[in-house]
Amino acid sequence: MQISDRIQNVAESGSLKMAARCREMQAAGVDVISMTLGEPDFAAPEHIKEAAIAAIRADYSHYGPVPGYPALREAIAKTLPIEAGFTANDIVVSSGAKQSLYNVVVCSLNSGDEAIIPTPSWVSYSEMVKLADARPVIVKTSAEHDWKMTSEQLAAAITPKTRMLILCSPNNPTGSVYSEKELDAIVDVLKKHPEVTVVADEIYNAIVYGKRAKSMAEYGEISDRVVIINGVSKAYAMTGYRIGWMASKNIEIVAACKRLQGQSTTCANTVAQKAAEVAYTGDQSCVEEMREEYSRRRKLILELMSEIPQVKCSVPDGAFYVFPDVSAYYGGKIGSSHEMTEYLLNEAHVACVAGADFGEDKCIRLSYATSRENIREAMARIKKALEKL
Ligand code: PLP
Repeated sequence: MQISDRIQNVAESGSLKMAARCREMQAAGVDVISMTLGEPDFAAPEHIKEAAIAAIRADYSHYGPVPGYPALREAIAKTLPIEAGFTANDIVVSSGAKQSLYNVVVCSLNSGDEAIIPTPSWVSYSEMVKLADARPVIVKTSAEHDWKMTSEQLAAAITPKTRMLILCSPNNPTGSVYSEKELDAIVDVLKKHPEVTVVADEIYNAIVYGKRAKSMAEYGEISDRVVIINGVSKAYAMTGYRIGWMASKNIEIVAACKRLQGQSTTCANTVAQKAAEVAYTGDQSCVEEMREEYSRRRKLILELMSEIPQVKCSVPDGAFYVFPDVSAYYGGKIGSSHEMTEYLLNEAHVACVAGADFGEDKCIRLSYATSRENIREAMARIKKALEKL
């Protein structure tokens, strides 16, 4: 059967591949600790589960409106900065932030357009850009700059073909959070380029440690071309519910996303939408409780990481990942992050994701969305395995 060139050019998700290998080994009885996945290990909070059950009983079994139920969109609008003035009409709810991103990328980019992606970055951005027949332009960031793109780097990367910037803060995989000053400088550059759409992926904005993640929605000067992406997956531990959303003051991109979604998936799961509505309108203490636990785990993993002499690890301000530089162990039998993750899987029975999958081969990504017990055991195993190199 013919498989399109379009899909053949798209890479398989490295993190999902590693997670699948880990599951296979676990099924075969190997005691593998997974530090691979980008999702909370917590179950969805009880009151949210109850809302889903109530929605089933209330027969939310039909198609819903393409952009999502108005009550959910109103609740989402209230999560955005008040001064930005978002309403339900500015929002399209989709089957996860991933679909929202895909909708926006496909609806904004033409063949040959360029999209700037500061890297290390989440694996899917560049593949989505390629699916839209556009070109990802990778801007490499470094640990020295806390894995953040400077305004100078942005200015240098913009060409007459640039039509999009995809900015993720807090970042996956590095956990970096752009400060207000850093964002101000980036926005100053963007003001000179009205043809560039800014896609701000803020999916981890509820998971920060002592630092506020400023939203791109706070920049009124460029609001006509900013698209905010977020969802319930990470903040409310609802990854499997598949509810994400885009918000924009630009009515054309909102209309385009609705049109695409109307022809592709119709609407997000209606039961999950009712649960998401309660997530946003209900008691928010669950978000804080999970954040506090991530914070304890972050402290633990950073402490244990600092005990491994040759590993260099930046301190993440958000999300639930550490992205240590393990390249001091390269040479000899390990020459890349893929070989390192393979080695750690086989030797230490710890699964993590190769930095190369995020565009930085010196590093590996460890997710600390797992118990403190697992973190302790995984780090002890990693230390021992690295000492053998
Ligand atoms: N954006 C980033 C940076 C992510 O890490 C993820 C999931 O891992 C997503 C978006 C997708 O989230 P969702 O579950 O809402 O599709």
